[in-house]
Amino acid sequence: MSGVTAAERLLMSLGISQPNEIDLDAIAWHVGALVKYRHIDNADATIIGSLTHAVIAVNTSTSPARRRFSLAHELGHWHHHRGQILFCGASDIGNLAGGPLDPERQADAFASDLILPSYLIRPYINKLKKLTLAFVRDVANEFNTSTTATLIKILNEDRFPILLVCHGKNKRRWFRRAQMVPDWWFPREDLDADSFAFGILHAGNGEDTFPRKNGAGAWFEFRNVDRYEVLEQSFPLPNDEVLTVLTVPEEGLG
Ligand SMILES: [Zn+2]
Repeated sequence: MSGVTAAERLLMSLGISQPNEIDLDAIAWHVGALVKYRHIDNADATIIGSLTHAVIAVNTSTSPARRRFSLAHELGHWHHHRGQILFCGASDIGNLAGGPLDPERQADAFASDLILPSYLIRPYINKLKKLTLAFVRDVANEFNTSTTATLIKILNEDRFPILLVCHGKNKRRWFRRAQMVPDWWFPREDLDADSFAFGILHAGNGEDTFPRKNGAGAWFEFRNVDRYEVLEQSFPLPNDEVLTVLTVPEEGLG
């Protein structure tokens, strides 16, 4: 957790104190950007701007949560990369495989802080004992965001000893680890048949309704891995991917 970010400062300067007050069109107008919604070929959103004004176009052929994140992403470009013309495709916005210096990741970080600001999400998670997908969905509804974006923000808050691991049919696509979890909890590249996520990805099973215990060996390879159990809860993503929330046991944090 760091100090207040630029996106959060912007929200605070507008007096925003509730998730439903984060009106991105109004915020865009406030910072000099006009937003248009229309069908766009080959991009989820675009921005064309001078140094003072910009026009942002958001593709209406995507889901409401996706449109919202895409608009916030373009506002991130407006903040960080003013004066440029950018066409942001599906693989640019919210692509978790990129490095932190990638301009697309800077725009994503701004977007995450704008639609899920820490100062509004902390009151939700600070009183929470155990993280479940049902809870994450409730928060996502409050903030009008996707489950994945909400999970990443919660992970970054570093209140729960969790990892997020995304697998495609062939291998791991990306993962994130809360800061409190030691580096040796490094998830395996392959998806083990002993993981519950395996059934979701390969047998079309529905999502896990609650976190379940599993041997840590289904997810990690390190010496004495069999001593540990993790909590596992997964749900299917579009494009034949599965996302898993893994909770590391207390004794594994030393
Ligand atoms: Zn972009």
